[in-house]
Amino acid sequence: MPELPEVETVCRGLRGFLEHHTLTDVVVRRRDLRIPIPSDFEARLRGRTVQQLSRRAKYILGFLDGDDVLIAHLGMSGRLFGYRAGDPKRPTEPAKHDHVWLRTEEDTLLCYTDPRRFGLLTLCPKNKLAEHPLLKDLGIEPLSAELTPRFLSDALSRKQVPIKVALLDQAVIVGIGNIYASEILFRAHISPLRPASSLTPTERAALCPSIVAILQRAIDAGGSTLRDYVQADGELGSFQDLFAVYDREGTPCQRRACRGTIQRIVQAARATYFCPSCQH
Ligand SMILES: [Zn+2]
Repeated sequence: MPELPEVETVCRGLRGFLEHHTLTDVVVRRRDLRIPIPSDFEARLRGRTVQQLSRRAKYILGFLDGDDVLIAHLGMSGRLFGYRAGDPKRPTEPAKHDHVWLRTEEDTLLCYTDPRRFGLLTLCPKNKLAEHPLLKDLGIEPLSAELTPRFLSDALSRKQVPIKVALLDQAVIVGIGNIYASEILFRAHISPLRPASSLTPTERAALCPSIVAILQRAIDAGGSTLRDYVQADGELGSFQDLFAVYDREGTPCQRRACRGTIQRIVQAARATYFCPSCQH
């Protein structure tokens, strides 16, 4: 499943295909995604210019001229591919799982493909975006100024769950998924088993830069390529080559002074990887 770095990478890649482009042709082949594509989707998009593409949590938001915002989510297996005019890889016919095709006045083509259909494409009026059911309960963005030791201290002090589980809580901080939670805790030397409320001020202070550093490195690497994720131009991310603990059970800890071995445990039905020797 794409996490924040993968969605950020897709969003950045799509800007060149969509931002300041005017949608001329909108074809919906299947409406029954995670939530149904609205029946007036085509009419509300056609002729509209995409003024800005941004990301909120794992949603890609396309701000249109006029009243609407296009909301896209890749779900488990969704992909958004952009093609320029004359691209030899550009398809002439929709593939089996291409549910939506968008063409622009500048002759770029955007294909939304999703074999499992857990993703979504929908529209929301700009003035209702903050209260949209998908967005209204989301926590803070980890790469924004809102992430401070003070925020973490307030958010974690009441939580008895393990810190690894607390980091995945999208109502606190959005976009930290299972892979990155393990990597963040390793970098911060914090055991994933510790109750969130037990972290000392020093540990909470160490967590903030670790969250930022791991997510930023993953974005710089174009995300991690696992299963179905690819970037908007079909390139593969490479952060999986930089994993320090994730998916490395039984291998020696990468910290020079540490002789520990990476362990895999299960927390809240998700795999956690950590070094019991240098994470306390
Ligand atoms: Zn270690």
